Amino acid sequence: MANALVFIDNPGASLKKSSLELLTLARQLGETAVAVNGELNDDAAATLGAYGVTAVYQPSSNDLGDYLVGPKAAYLAAAVAASGATRVLLENSPEGKEIAGRLGIKLSAGVITDVVGVEADGTAHKSVLAGSYNTSAKATTPVAVLTVKANLIEPQPADTATTPEVAKVEVPADATAAAARISSREAKPASGRPDLSEARIVVAGGRGVDGDFGPLEELADVLGAAVGASRAATDAGWIGHDAQVGQTGVTVSPQLYISAGISGAIQQKAGMQTSKVIVAINKDAESPVFEIADFGIVGDLFKVLPQATAEIKKRKG
Ligand SMILES: Cc1cc2nc3c(=O)[nH]c(=O)nc-3n(C[C@H](O)[C@H](O)[C@H](O)COP(=O)(O)OP(=O)(O)OC[C@H]3O[C@@H](n4cnc5c(N)ncnc54)[C@H](O)[C@@H]3O)c2cc1C
Repeated sequence: MANALVFIDNPGASLKKSSLELLTLARQLGETAVAVNGELNDDAAATLGAYGVTAVYQPSSNDLGDYLVGPKAAYLAAAVAASGATRVLLENSPEGKEIAGRLGIKLSAGVITDVVGVEADGTAHKSVLAGSYNTSAKATTPVAVLTVKANLIEPQPADTATTPEVAKVEVPADATAAAARISSREAKPASGRPDLSEARIVVAGGRGVDGDFGPLEELADVLGAAVGASRAATDAGWIGHDAQVGQTGVTVSPQLYISAGISGAIQQKAGMQTSKVIVAINKDAESPVFEIADFGIVGDLFKVLPQATAEIKKRKG
């Protein structure tokens, strides 16, 4: 019987860093099982073993990816029953949270989202009200469902590798009956940059970029970073809404968040305040962003960013 069950959707050729983080965290809760949706190749299976996973579950039907989240929650509920796990960990993505909510209803389980830390007894920590308070919460139900933010811990393989048992889980026949089916998919043009919510470094721009994200993109590319934005920048149409960081956008917790031309409104802070190191560039020394910045540069981003990019390029050789 496992203590924790981690959901990994579409593991792909190699597991994402956020999945490895969940596996590392789950081990702190005890014996870990994984419910995979989608194909699991040999490399990904070997990685699960390296992270100490004892059991891997797969759905009896291969078409869950053809539907929106409902059938995935039904599968996960069946995997929880099969594994005996009392803690379920998912990514804190919009889809992860939606599956968590539906799973919570199916299992009458407490759901805690936006988790930034979990203790061995299942107590979850959150950073709330734009990072002004840290709260602790523990579900009182037999099973707890937690969605965990990315970039909180460094992935660590287990001291002793395992060879996980692989088992099929029967997805209830009615799981797909009334579910919304995906009728078409269109690949998003690849930017070559990491996914915003998972990136170790984010370079974000606000109204101060005045329509020109060029200097931010150049810095992002030398750092291997994702590009984010304030709502002022996305509302102005300078960059897509999927780049918006904040209360009504993406929540990020990178190792480094570079904020350029952003004033640091509470709604912006809500999405980035848990970043490990915050560097702010703003021409107004009184800007509130400097209250949360670890390093602040009072200056014009169009002068500061190209200098930073040139220096990093030089040091990289
Ligand atoms: C319900 C609600 C939800 C919201 N959700 C979000 C959200 O998810 N994310 C979000 O970001 N906002 C959100 N907002 C909006 C938020 O309140 C702010 O209006 C927004 O964050 C401001 O964006 P900004 O900092 O880019 O612009 P501004 O506040 O206009 O700041 C621009 C900054 O750029 C600086 N600047 C200008 N030129 C330069 C230059 N050349 N070099 C350096 N610095 C320069 C200025 O000094 C200024 O500090 C929300 C608001 C509401 C009401």
